[in-house]
Amino acid sequence: MNPDNPNLLGMTPRELRETLTAHFGRRGEPGYRTRQVEEWLFRGDARSFGHMLNLPVDERGALGDSFRLGEPAVDTVSESADGTVKHLWTLRGGEVVESVLIPTRDRLTLCISSQAGCALRCRFCATGWSGFGRQLTPAEIVGQYRASARWAAERGRGAVTNVVFMGMGEPLANRKGVFPALTILNSGYGIGARRITVSTVGVIPGIAALAERPEQFRLALSLHAPVTELRAELIPLEKRYPLDQLMEALAAFNSKGGRRVTFEYTMIRDVNDDPALIAPLAELAIRVQAFVNLIPFNPIPYVEWKPSRRSRVREFRDRLEAAGVPAAVREPRGRDIEAACGQLRASRRGDRIGPGGQPER
Ligand code: SAH
Repeated sequence: MNPDNPNLLGMTPRELRETLTAHFGRRGEPGYRTRQVEEWLFRGDARSFGHMLNLPVDERGALGDSFRLGEPAVDTVSESADGTVKHLWTLRGGEVVESVLIPTRDRLTLCISSQAGCALRCRFCATGWSGFGRQLTPAEIVGQYRASARWAAERGRGAVTNVVFMGMGEPLANRKGVFPALTILNSGYGIGARRITVSTVGVIPGIAALAERPEQFRLALSLHAPVTELRAELIPLEKRYPLDQLMEALAAFNSKGGRRVTFEYTMIRDVNDDPALIAPLAELAIRVQAFVNLIPFNPIPYVEWKPSRRSRVREFRDRLEAAGVPAAVREPRGRDIEAACGQLRASRRGDRIGPGGQPER
């Protein structure tokens, strides 16, 4: 296969249909060939054109002459004692990204990356410290899903039921990659829009664009502080898109589709876990009818911070609930394989650590 051929994995179902219809039309082949290929891609999990056994051999060859089905290559797979599975993928050009399969009682959630690295430099996030590599293409995002889902299916781990954009990168800073990938995962691979969550640190134009989409994709906002001054210390983007404007964007998102947003709140000891923050947090959640996920901070090598104490995390949850805000405590999974939030890529990319062990920022 020619590496410069268009990758069919990155085409939306509509683009794929147009492309294949034109291709088979030029070759004088019947219209149902297009549907056969679609079937192989979206349901048959074909890894190559050679797998498409109900196509004539010549047609398999002709597809390979014009197109490719390129997936990210597996670099390493690690499995945690708690069942979490991390894939490290090598992309063309040598960048590495990660995705994580997270089994729970009734779900298999896949956490995928939207960028190699990240430009937004949130202080608590290892990806931010490692700097920005490049945007992922739709095919590279969808490819993480295909290859992970195949890995799970081949080992009897069941089907991927949910996809969350909580791996490396800021998905709403890569709409060219992420928006087509959303379409492909939803209308191509049949993952319900309500089972796909885009997590953002608050890129307002991206939230507005997601709100305009007819599908009911879910939105999570990485809030981490309910007041602007503190949030700006943790998240540089707060200066560009401050909380009050962010809340307006979320209210507008809600009014488009009645979709409940989630606040992600990573609890860092003595940084953002003062009980005095519970009231403003509850106020924001009530304003935009958000569900609050409280996540004990997962330590990273670049800062001295520790997770909040258990009792403090529970206090936040209980007092939010008492204020009428639904809240849950989420445990970071896969700590032993460095698959937990914010750790992705960091250890592998030790090469980006600057002199004296200080990360280059
Ligand atoms: N850029 C997007 C998605 C990637 S991060 C976003 O910010 O939402 C996915 C989630 O992991 C975010 O909620 C992020 O704040 C959280 N996270 C990052 N580093 C973490 C850490 N060290 N401990 C706990 N959660 C972390």
